[in-house]
Amino acid sequence: MTSDPIWQRLVEELARRQRAGRKAEFWLRDDDAVDPTPALDRLLDLTGEFAVPATLAVIPARTDGKLVVRLDEAPHATVAVHGWAHRNHAPADQKRQELGAHRPREAVLDDLARGLSRVTGLHGARAVPMLVPPWNRIDAGVVSDLGSIGFAALSVYGPPKPAPLAVINSNVDIMDWRGSRGCHDHGLLVQAIIAQLQHAFDGGEPVGLLTHHLVHDESAWLFLERLFTVTAQTEACAWLPIRTFIDRAQRPRAGWDL
Ligand SMILES: [Zn+2]
Repeated sequence: MTSDPIWQRLVEELARRQRAGRKAEFWLRDDDAVDPTPALDRLLDLTGEFAVPATLAVIPARTDGKLVVRLDEAPHATVAVHGWAHRNHAPADQKRQELGAHRPREAVLDDLARGLSRVTGLHGARAVPMLVPPWNRIDAGVVSDLGSIGFAALSVYGPPKPAPLAVINSNVDIMDWRGSRGCHDHGLLVQAIIAQLQHAFDGGEPVGLLTHHLVHDESAWLFLERLFTVTAQTEACAWLPIRTFIDRAQRPRAGWDL
């Protein structure tokens, strides 16, 4: 497989990292989990096989104890809060948002507090106080109040903006939402991963892979399997649990209090 030129580029990039004595850090966020399904089984089996920690963004209003029972068998899974009901409150001519400025801020914060309480109540120690806004969109005013209702971290998509809590964004989305609605071209995804690795090498964020198990086509599953295979072949890679990044963001940086 590594003779495939698409993947060979990543193999070489990781080899460079190893020679430099640096680790390439990855984490995986998968959105929209509600119930156990064959697709969720496939995701949990695949990530489990490669010891890849999976952060599942779960929709609080739609989920219940069935998912709890399933995840009890998946110790590599962590649960984050995916809004409240994944309901759009924006007018039809605007981008979809559940957590935008279309409702009073108190109403949005009430939903989110309820979401955190529900997910924590169901999943206990498996839950992390991280908000994953539906459609990766949230009003900036709501962000400033997330800490006051118990959130320690926020995860959207793309380069992080300054915020009063830890921001741990995904940055490589495997799905081609605007085009085929299937998996992106594997070559483009490998290129995006290499670009993010180079950014991380210069002090930027780790590779945050974004998946949506419910809509994966075969190409998406194949991409994940190949990526996990390549990254498992080198000591230069680490797939880390989300807690590592939350803890790291909360630790004061060395030198601050000197
Ligand atoms: Zn979603």
